[in-house]
Amino acid sequence: MYIVSACLAGIKCKYNGKDNKNEAISKLVEEGKAIPVCPEVLGGLPTPRVPCEIIKDEKGNTRVIDKDGVDRTTEFLEGAKKSLAIAGVVGAKVAILKSNSPSCGCGYVYDGNFCGKLVEGNGVTTDLFIDNGIKVYSDKDYRLDK
Ligand code: SF4
Repeated sequence: MYIVSACLAGIKCKYNGKDNKNEAISKLVEEGKAIPVCPEVLGGLPTPRVPCEIIKDEKGNTRVIDKDGVDRTTEFLEGAKKSLAIAGVVGAKVAILKSNSPSCGCGYVYDGNFCGKLVEGNGVTTDLFIDNGIKVYSDKDYRLDK
């Protein structure tokens, strides 16, 4: 069983109310091989919502801030924890998550200046998954285990 980003499965849960549908990943869900989760919605944020990016605060702590300057770290952590709990319930050891997202990004995320620049790093949920032994692929480099 896989966990997949819900927007990749065609669910319109992106910050702008759209999806990032990927046909192969949608098929996994339709076949009962993957469970879709959207950490930001699970964390209590609405759709549509103000986009967020990851920053380091003046103390060097990682925070998630929306484009209006509101700190959304609590919601992102809550969504990550709920996503991990779902992975535990369904026994998922592998996740395929949306690239570049502050929740789901794997390898690269936006730099916190809302200017479209990517830097190395992971989303909040991706980090929690990896810390708990879940292998994370991005939608750009995933492979399906046989
Ligand atoms: Fe997609 Fe993840 Fe963003 Fe939800 S939090 S819209 S699943 S990338």
